Amino acid sequence: VVKPQASDKTYKIVLAGDAAVGKSSFLLRLCKNEFKGTTSATLGVDFQMKTLVVDGVPTVLQLWDTAGQERFRSIAKSYFRRADGVLLLYDVTCEKSFLNVREWVDIIEDVSQDDVPIMLVGNKTDLREQALQEGITCIPTSYGEKLAMTYSSLFCETSAKEGSNIVEAVLHLAREVIKHA
Ligand code: GDP
Repeated sequence: VVKPQASDKTYKIVLAGDAAVGKSSFLLRLCKNEFKGTTSATLGVDFQMKTLVVDGVPTVLQLWDTAGQERFRSIAKSYFRRADGVLLLYDVTCEKSFLNVREWVDIIEDVSQDDVPIMLVGNKTDLREQALQEGITCIPTSYGEKLAMTYSSLFCETSAKEGSNIVEAVLHLAREVIKHA
């Protein structure tokens, strides 16, 4: 466990994406290494702190969840002001959440500082095989990669349930954020 020091630099990272794609679960896994099958919608503004060692340097991340306010795009906008980086999630078993990525990128680019680094994250990979067998349209990895390229954003796939790739995704984004700062 790395304890934050007053001298460590703090960066503001905002989680974006449709409701139920797994933003709260992503944060819970990252910050507490836990997963809950049911998560209650948090009301109001909420952030968590996480210190990661990025290339040997302790770095404090202030991670903001949009806390169930995705429906109010005007509120969502206020989160992206002064964001140093964005984690933009979709659910690989929910086509609509993938199609809505465009809208999220527009909102982010509209209000954030110039060219804020974005990590596009396809979450819930643990559900994809089962969903495909059930005839549910899923988003292949290559589609996510291609979409990320059109926005010059980073890309990865995660499972908050299994804990796969969560830390890696945040580390990768943090590196980009530090480079960009
Ligand atoms: P949010 O609205 O974007 O914050 O989404 P939540 O974190 O509340 O997640 C919505 C639902 O999806 C909850 O029932 C979670 O338990 C579930 N969930 C989130 N991430 C995953 C995942 O990686 N795999 C699976 N199987 N379920 C997930």
